[in-house]
Amino acid sequence: MEQRNFYNQILTEHNANPFHKERVEEPTHVHDGVNPTCGDEITLELKMVGDTIVEAGFHGDGCAISQASADIMLDLVIGKDREEALALGDTFLRMIQGEATAEEMEELDEAIAFQDISRMPARVKCAVLGWHTIKQVLES
Ligand code: ZN
Repeated sequence: MEQRNFYNQILTEHNANPFHKERVEEPTHVHDGVNPTCGDEITLELKMVGDTIVEAGFHGDGCAISQASADIMLDLVIGKDREEALALGDTFLRMIQGEATAEEMEELDEAIAFQDISRMPARVKCAVLGWHTIKQVLES
């Protein structure tokens, strides 16, 4: 599929039917992320057992990119442990900088749709908001 169509389709699908835009019962971690340049806000709720993210959801308001990227991010990190989730976030950021290998990017699944976001510099902060927010939780 052509890259731009894939990107648009992913954005549309995750905005129309977000998988993880829901409250988590008794979360162990709640953290707000804000991207003031665009007005994006998300609140992440995680339930961790030991080092593993067993359940996660988000709520918030913002542009399609910020909300879809957060939804896809949660898809990837649920069931992972702290180290694996941080590694995925690192790969995502390096992908945007054009530094991730093809093999690494395979692990990003649908998040690969944001590969070319660096061509729209104003939107990079939207795409990384969810990843930055979970990083703050996992490193705290
Ligand atoms: Zn935005």
